[in-house]
Amino acid sequence: LSAADYIRSHIRTVPDWPVAGVQFRDITPLLSNPRVFRVLIDQFVHRYFDERPTAIAGLDARGFIIGSVLAYELGVGFIPIRKKGKLPFTTVAESYELEYGSATVEIHADAVKPGERIVLIDDLVATGGTMLAGARLLQRLGAELIECGAIVDLPELGGSAKLRAAGLPLFSLLDFD
Ligand code: 5GP
Repeated sequence: LSAADYIRSHIRTVPDWPVAGVQFRDITPLLSNPRVFRVLIDQFVHRYFDERPTAIAGLDARGFIIGSVLAYELGVGFIPIRKKGKLPFTTVAESYELEYGSATVEIHADAVKPGERIVLIDDLVATGGTMLAGARLLQRLGAELIECGAIVDLPELGGSAKLRAAGLPLFSLLDFD
């Protein structure tokens, strides 16, 4: 069993959640099993060990779980990108369109130091709107974005292609159709 297949076998698909017709890919079984959690984190550690990012940024909320452990393992700092209204200090915001309405993510204005080389982490890329908004925030603050990283890509929803077109390659551990 490859690491990707081992990880895939611990993702639970929940039909019709949060709305009818959506097959939600639930990553919580990856977190409750300490062996698969370690295999999961090690995939990202191996990917970025030689790359030497100066920080890891993570997207609210499942990107925090993976991203903060990765940052700790690499010995670098962690930068949270949060949903609107959660960060207490001066923020910079980026909005993006959802199927119905829009969403906004925020970062602290002083979160990126000059010359910082960052990997941006989330659990899953669907339409790519969330990852792209996070990447724009980091770039607006002057970061060099090495790459976006996620456990799961849903290529049929077009997010990874959209990121690629924006010059932001996505590293993902596995795809679902
Ligand atoms: P996007 O902005 O790419 O359309 O959606 C990705 C965002 O929504 C990520 O922050 C991700 O956590 C969440 N998301 C959307 N669909 C799923 C799913 O099926 N499973 C999980 N775990 N997260 C999802």
